Amino acid sequence: MRDSSNKPLVTTLGERCRICYTCVRECPAKAIRIANGQAEVIAERCIGCGNCVRVCSQKAKQILDSKQKVYELLKSNSKTAVILAPSFPAEFVEFKCEELVGMIRSLGFDYVNEVGFGADLIADRYNKLLDESGPNCKYIATSCPAIIAYVEKYHPDLVGNLAPIVSPMVATAKVLHQIYGEDLRVVFVGPCIAKKGEITSVNMDSEVDASLTFIELREMLEAELGSEKAQNSMFDEPLAGVGAIFPISRGLFQSAGIEEDLVSGKIVAVEGGNSFVDAFKEFESGDMNVRLLEVLACNGCIMGPGISNKKPLFNRRASVSSYVQEKMSNFDRKKWEKNVKRFENLDLSRKFSAYDQRIKLIQEDDLEHILVRMGKYTAEDELNCGACGYNTCREHALAIWKGLAESEMCLPYSIEQLHKTIEDLANSNNQLANTQEALMQSEKLASMGQLAAGVAHEINNPLGVVLMYAHLLLEKYRDDILLKDDLRLIAEQADRCKKIVGGLLNFARKNKAILQPADIYEIIDKSIQAVPNEKGVEIMVENTLEDRIAELDSEQMSQVFSNLVANAIAATGKTGLITITIGGDNKNLNIKVIDSGTGIPKENISKIFEPFFTTKQIGDGTGLGLAVAYGIVKMHRGDIEVESNADPKKGSTGTTFTVILPRRKTNGFQ
Ligand code: SF4
Ligand code: SF4
Repeated sequence: MRDSSNKPLVTTLGERCRICYTCVRECPAKAIRIANGQAEVIAERCIGCGNCVRVCSQKAKQILDSKQKVYELLKSNSKTAVILAPSFPAEFVEFKCEELVGMIRSLGFDYVNEVGFGADLIADRYNKLLDESGPNCKYIATSCPAIIAYVEKYHPDLVGNLAPIVSPMVATAKVLHQIYGEDLRVVFVGPCIAKKGEITSVNMDSEVDASLTFIELREMLEAELGSEKAQNSMFDEPLAGVGAIFPISRGLFQSAGIEEDLVSGKIVAVEGGNSFVDAFKEFESGDMNVRLLEVLACNGCIMGPGISNKKPLFNRRASVSSYVQEKMSNFDRKKWEKNVKRFENLDLSRKFSAYDQRIKLIQEDDLEHILVRMGKYTAEDELNCGACGYNTCREHALAIWKGLAESEMCLPYSIEQLHKTIEDLANSNNQLANTQEALMQSEKLASMGQLAAGVAHEINNPLGVVLMYAHLLLEKYRDDILLKDDLRLIAEQADRCKKIVGGLLNFARKNKAILQPADIYEIIDKSIQAVPNEKGVEIMVENTLEDRIAELDSEQMSQVFSNLVANAIAATGKTGLITITIGGDNKNLNIKVIDSGTGIPKENISKIFEPFFTTKQIGDGTGLGLAVAYGIVKMHRGDIEVESNADPKKGSTGTTFTVILPRRKTNGFQ
C-alpha cells in the first residue's frame, strides 16, 4: 500500500532488522521478503494492516510519517478540520474529551468533528442494504481499509460481495464538505495505518486530505503545545450518537442495531490476528453460508497499530465504553435525529476494484524442483513447521518461485546446511593441520639431509684413504700373527663407516638413481628374500596391477623394501602377519607394507625418518634404515607415509607404510 505521493505505508529500518521472520510469519498478505539483509515490505502486496509493526520487537518497521503534510495544510489559506476516530478514548486516556478537542484546535484547526457521526450514517445505510437486497445476497461488511485491500488483492473474485458503502471516515468528510464547502481540508486522525492508503484509493473521491495516526497527533501536540494548557472545547456539530461505539468489537452491528446471529449463522463477525484469512477462504469456497460477514483486521479499531497505549484489549474497551456512556447520558437525541435526517440523501456509496496479487499455482514438477533445493526430497521431509513464516513447505516453495522467499528461511534446512558447513570446516581444518605437520616434517628432514650430506661428504674422502690403507696393510701383513687381527678390525670398522656414510648420502639424496624399466613385483619379491626371517613371520604379497613395470632404480628400491620388511618383521610376533599390497594406476605405483606388530608410539611417529633414530638396542641397528628408505623414495620423486596404532584400546595394533612412486620419468622425476 502506498500514499498519494506513492510512498509505501510501511518500510523497514535495515539496521534494526535482525531477520527473525516474525513479521514474515504474521503478515497475512505475505508482503514481506528477505532481501538485502532485511525483511523488506513489498508495497504492492501490503494491505497496511500493521501486524508487522506490532510484532517487531526490534522496532524495525516504520510507518509513513504524514505530519509534514498536515503542517502544510495548516499553513494553507483553506479552512481545516480534524475528524477524530471514535477510538480516541483508548489512546488519550489522560485527557478529558474537551481537553483533547481544545488542544487539537490550538494546533490551528478550524473544526474538530467526530467520525462517530459518519458511523451513524453508514449504520443506517447497512440497514437499508440488508432490507433492500434479496435473501441470497451475501455481503462483506467492513470499514477497514486493510480488509478491503486484502479482498481486492487476494480474493478479487469477492470484490462484488463488498458492501458498496463508504467508511465512517469518508462519510464524515462528505458531511463536512457539504456543510463547509469543497475547499475545506480534512485531516483524519485514528488508530490505523491503512487509512493513509484509503484516502488516495482510486475508487474514492479525494474527501480526506491527510491521515494521521494517534501517535502522530500526540507527537504534534507535544511539539507544538508542550505543557501549555489549551482552552477546553467541545466537538463541532453534528455530534455522534451510538456510532461512537463503532471501534470496539462488533461495533458496526451495534451501531446498526444488527444482532450477530449465532443460531442461524447468517450474520457473523470476524476480527483480529489473521483469522480473517481463513474466514475469506471459507466464504469464497461456499463453506461459510452467511448473509453478512463483518470483518476487521484488528481486534476492533481500539487495537490498531497507530495507538501508543500498551494497555490490553479490555482496558481499552472500557475507556471507550465509559466515554460513550457519559456521552449518551447527555445525548440530545432529537438534534441527532435531525442531523441524521439532514444527510439521509448524501451519497455514501463506493466502488471497489480487483488488484490481483495472488501467487499463481505452478507445475508440480517446478514445485518439486524448488522443494528439492530446500532439502525436501520426500513427503516426510515436508515438516510444515511454520518456522519460515509460511504455513506449509509448499507455500514456502511457491513464495520462493515468486521471488518472495529464500530456501535459507527454512530453519531445519539451514540447520542441516550449518551442520554440513561445520563438518566441512572441521575436515579442512584437519587436512590443513596434517598438511602443515607434513610440511614441517619434510622441512626438518630436508635440513637434516643438508647437514648429513655435509658431514658425509667431508668424511667420505679421508675415510676412503683409511679404508684403502687398512686393506693394503691387511694384505701385506696377512701372515703377521701380531698385527693381522688388529688390521682386520680396522678394515671392518672402516667398512662399517663407509656404509653409514653411504646411508647418509642416500638419505640426503646425494646419490644418483639409475632409472630403468623394472618389475615392482620382482623387486619386492627379491627384497623379501634378502631379509632374514628367523621368527618365520608370514609374509603375503597381494598384487592388483596388470602392468607391473615402472622406471625405477631396482637396487635402491630393493633396499627400501628390504628395510621396510626388516622393520615389519622386527615389530611383529611369530604369529603375526605382514601383508604387502601392490596397486596403483597408470600414473603411480602404490605399495603398502602392513604389519600386525606392536605399532609405533604416537610421540615417535614424527621422528622415524630421522637418521640415527632407533628404538632398538644399541648395536642392533644403525637407525638409518627408514632414513635411507625415505631418501631413496624422495630421489624417485615419490612419497612415503606412515600410519600406526600402538594402543590396543584403540583397536588392532600395527603399522602401515605407504610408498607412492611415479611410474615414468615424465610423471615427475628425472
Ligand atoms: S520482526 Fe521483521 S522487521 Fe522485525 S526484526 Fe524480525 S524480521 Fe526484522
Ligand atoms: S502492514 Fe500488514 S500487510 Fe503490510 S507488510 Fe505489514 S503485516 Fe504485511
